[in-house]
Amino acid sequence: MRTRTRSSRRALVTTLTALATAAAATLTTATTAAAVPDRAAACNGYVGLTFDDGPSGNTTKLLDALRRNGLRATMFNQGQYAAANPSLVRAQVAAGMWVANHSYTHPHLTQLSQAQIDSEISRTQQALANAGGGSPKLFRPPYGETNATVKSVAARYGLTEIIWNVDSQDWNGASTDAIVQSVGRLTNGQVILMHDWPANTLAAVPRIAQSLTARGLCAGMISPQTGRAVAPG
Ligand SMILES: [Zn+2]
Repeated sequence: MRTRTRSSRRALVTTLTALATAAAATLTTATTAAAVPDRAAACNGYVGLTFDDGPSGNTTKLLDALRRNGLRATMFNQGQYAAANPSLVRAQVAAGMWVANHSYTHPHLTQLSQAQIDSEISRTQQALANAGGGSPKLFRPPYGETNATVKSVAARYGLTEIIWNVDSQDWNGASTDAIVQSVGRLTNGQVILMHDWPANTLAAVPRIAQSLTARGLCAGMISPQTGRAVAPG
């Protein structure tokens, strides 16, 4: 009986020691993770957040919100606005965003001649490069309207056409709740359409981040090779 009690006590002490060691190990891991944020470790997949039609007077607030919430996104800029606000294109790059081409004046490209399409795309590439946005690899035609001519002109400038898998409808007055719910429908590799200017989109950013984190998804870059969202590289 005595022996058994002593051995039970010894077992208890051993267990407590093991628990304390485990707790210390957990604490160390947690401290390290906090000191060096490594979101990649928690990513079971990636989605492509995209914001069209900037840069605008709303861009600075949007970039602040994205950065505060640890989100990166692809900004499909209009060339005319990039030319007018080059510092905002630089701010997009500085905030970790990917700069992409969304035509110069946002026309219905499928109704234009090949020369006009060429002008829309090439002038935007130039405006974005002049602003410090590098040489974009992604192109989204306004309204998602495309055809073989649009695609071939884009390809001539080394651009991959990116439409979207989910339309947030933020351009159509979608509520902040509805925008967050749209993000909730994204699966690994998919791309969502949002815009630079709606107040409801800006308001949705913190909840978009929470929603993605809850599902183990991270905001990724859009691969020019596959058109799918992938780990930032
Ligand atoms: Zn647009």
